[in-house]
Amino acid sequence: MSRRIKTLIAAVAVAGLAIPAANAAEQQFVSIGTGGVTGVYYPTGGAICRLVNKGKKTHGIRCSAESTGGSIYNINTIRAKELQFGVAQSDWQYHAYNGTSKFKDKGAFKKLRAVFSVHAEPVTIIARDDAKVNNITDLKGKRMNIGNPGSGTRGTWEVIEKTLGWKRSDLALAASMKSAETGAALCDGKIDAYFWLVGHPSALTQESIASCASHLVNATAPQIDKLIADKPYYRTAIIPAGMYNNKEDIKTFGVGATFVSSSDVPENVVYTVVKAVFENLDQMKKLHPAFKHLKAENMIKDSLSAPLHAGAMKYYKEKGWMK
Ligand code: GLU
Repeated sequence: MSRRIKTLIAAVAVAGLAIPAANAAEQQFVSIGTGGVTGVYYPTGGAICRLVNKGKKTHGIRCSAESTGGSIYNINTIRAKELQFGVAQSDWQYHAYNGTSKFKDKGAFKKLRAVFSVHAEPVTIIARDDAKVNNITDLKGKRMNIGNPGSGTRGTWEVIEKTLGWKRSDLALAASMKSAETGAALCDGKIDAYFWLVGHPSALTQESIASCASHLVNATAPQIDKLIADKPYYRTAIIPAGMYNNKEDIKTFGVGATFVSSSDVPENVVYTVVKAVFENLDQMKKLHPAFKHLKAENMIKDSLSAPLHAGAMKYYKEKGWMK
């Protein structure tokens, strides 16, 4: 065998060994904390992972979405470094970063990073028709699910309750079920209504309205107008007529669903995830009807209060979307 051929064989052998070894070493796993399986956070995490995993052979990142208790759980678990990403309501992103409200005791989570925002999440109340509830203020004395501990929903109910000047005992029952359990409880007559913050259309809302005589309820009050005026992360919202069985727009207010991470998560990981989403945004928009109106220019700035992650910023600058 000539020296040249021997050298070639050696080079091929080294390359053959080196490639799988390098891939194995670089394989990275990332998990996204979401919410209940009938909500919109769970399919949001699923959609992001699907786009990331399309390129996993090239970039070595494998993504999985976990069903969790929701926003506050996700932020706390990112803080504990057990999750790399999470979906969280914009009000809880704000409070976590600033160490206010429910995050006062734990202190500010200064490593929290915004990545992008997703869909809008209005306050959504579904009531049984026989409960005679047409506005949030009619819920006094009723049996309502206020959200499981760890959900953004539960945290925001606590804010609303205070805003309206109510005590917990002003509800005949304040249940703490997970979102996925509330549809059956409503239709079995165990509760009169359930409250949550969610994108639309959502599977649970659709399912409840299809399964028993129930409807969406407005969430308006002078105290709520003041709350919206005072806080940057709340804004008025509607659930458009015809979205479900509602003939008219439902007048409410809400927050934004945001995608967050921590500055402990490496820049290249966040960059890869962000790139997978924005290069495939048209595909992402088809993965859930709540994503229909997503626009890159809004996603990179709306509802974000923590600083942007360096990996996200790198991509947005590269695209010329940011200076
Ligand atoms: N906004 C809800 C929460 O954090 C979750 C909504 C969803 O699962 O889509 O509690």
